[in-house]
Amino acid sequence: MSISNGNIPFSWSLSRHKCLSECQLKYACSYYISQNGWNKRSPIIAQKSYRLKRLQSLPMVFGSSVHEVINRAIEENLSDFIVDANEMTERIRGNLNKAYQDSKYKLGTWMDAPNQCTMLQEFYYDGDLPLDKISDYKNRIEPTVKHIIGSQTYRDLSDHGKVELVTAEKFRAMEVDGINVWIVIDLCYRDLETGKFTIVGLKTSRSTANDYYQYYQMCLYAWFIQQAYVLDSLEDIELRLEFLSDGTSKTFTPKEIDLDNVYHLFRTSVESMYTLLDDVENNKPKEIKEFTKTDNGNCCAVCNFRQICQTE
Ligand code: SF4
Repeated sequence: MSISNGNIPFSWSLSRHKCLSECQLKYACSYYISQNGWNKRSPIIAQKSYRLKRLQSLPMVFGSSVHEVINRAIEENLSDFIVDANEMTERIRGNLNKAYQDSKYKLGTWMDAPNQCTMLQEFYYDGDLPLDKISDYKNRIEPTVKHIIGSQTYRDLSDHGKVELVTAEKFRAMEVDGINVWIVIDLCYRDLETGKFTIVGLKTSRSTANDYYQYYQMCLYAWFIQQAYVLDSLEDIELRLEFLSDGTSKTFTPKEIDLDNVYHLFRTSVESMYTLLDDVENNKPKEIKEFTKTDNGNCCAVCNFRQICQTE
């Protein structure tokens, strides 16, 4: 079966790399089969894949809610980053409740227009959310908000006149070897006195999880800011991971070797993606049967595309 006309230019991101390293079939569903799946005239498999791609897990909804309240607080108080903890707590709780209600009562709406409401993966595949999981995430809200307010990032942003925000929207992609590399930086600001950039990764997971991924993510951000601002020295950049679940953080200054490591990852990742294309120039993938399934049960247990996978 042909799974894409190859009409969308090839691009790269770290999440694309992560997806491919988990499973080739998951990668095909995410980046090829689901193309144009929002269009009701597209093949049924494309529409289905597009819908499944939009499933969210409870940790994802929690993480995006935390990001949303931080961004909103920053936007609303650009010069004085004063946060109302109660308001933040209520917004996160409201988002989780909405995701639950949407999932429980709006299956029909989601099937028809999956971008108009949230469908939790747990609900879609298991029919409900386990109570212990719900209470686990409810219990995380208040400590997370407390750790946001206790963080160095909060102190820097609320110190009036000390820093200026670097607007993330300006920096969505950079071109490397003729390929668009997509980047979404959580937060970046610049010290007005020293000119130093601080790039912040906001993590709602525990500090030991995904260290390999986080390392490359932060170094990719550094590379991007270095290119965007034509910085002579990486000493002008500080990378900071804020772990909001336990209030810890890690800070480091990137070195040339770190950027070399990211470039090496990018090149090897692109080469392995190219092996799955029939036509590299037009980004046209091979037949679906050429994309192998992982035998890692942990990946499958949380994969959005289980429904498609069972029929392929
Ligand atoms: S269920 Fe497993 S094998 Fe199937 S697409 Fe997902 S990760 Fe791959």
